[in-house]
Amino acid sequence: MSGHDHDHHHHHHDDEHLSEHERPLSGPALRVKALESLLVDKGLVDSKTIDGIIETFETKIGPRNGARVVARAWTDPAYKKRLLSDSRAAIAEFGFYGYGEDMVVVENTPKVRNMVVCTLCSCYPWSVLGLPPVWYKSAPYRARAVIDPRGILNELGAAPAEDVEVRVWDSTAELRYMVLPERPAGTEGWSEEQLAAIVTRDAMIGVAVVTVPAAGK
Ligand code: FE
Repeated sequence: MSGHDHDHHHHHHDDEHLSEHERPLSGPALRVKALESLLVDKGLVDSKTIDGIIETFETKIGPRNGARVVARAWTDPAYKKRLLSDSRAAIAEFGFYGYGEDMVVVENTPKVRNMVVCTLCSCYPWSVLGLPPVWYKSAPYRARAVIDPRGILNELGAAPAEDVEVRVWDSTAELRYMVLPERPAGTEGWSEEQLAAIVTRDAMIGVAVVTVPAAGK
């Protein structure tokens, strides 16, 4: 499997990796937690509302960055070339920065479908996709993405044809992947904004394809 040297990376960078996931809350995370406790204590919001806010960051606000990157790549061939050859720099053109981890954008084509996972924990291209969804962090997805990626895609209704190669990219603390999905037919002449609106988080993880919504655009 291409780029699957996860264990190697983790072996040599164990401290950094553990620190990212297992260090006590600090900085912004701590302040968010403190704010949440305060709001719940004061009865200003309930935790269900907060779950809703997190859901919004997972599915809407966070992935909008990635959607803009994808829409630009679909409409600007020179940008797409930069995105695929130096992903981090091309993403930084929008002002989206990570913590220094490298980024690689992998392109879906009629012959290749890409899928992103972190087999060890939950490394995720958060600068373009926001918060990782719960299923991405789950043991079943992490294990099965490697053993049976086609099975996952089939179950999610994104089954690739038999002759399409499925590539799985194992994210690490140092290197994160994002999928550049295929632009769907029927979007000719659409603006970048219109295109960005139909790009989903799951398509950029590689477990869905982008489709044109049935009820117009
Ligand atoms: Fe991880």
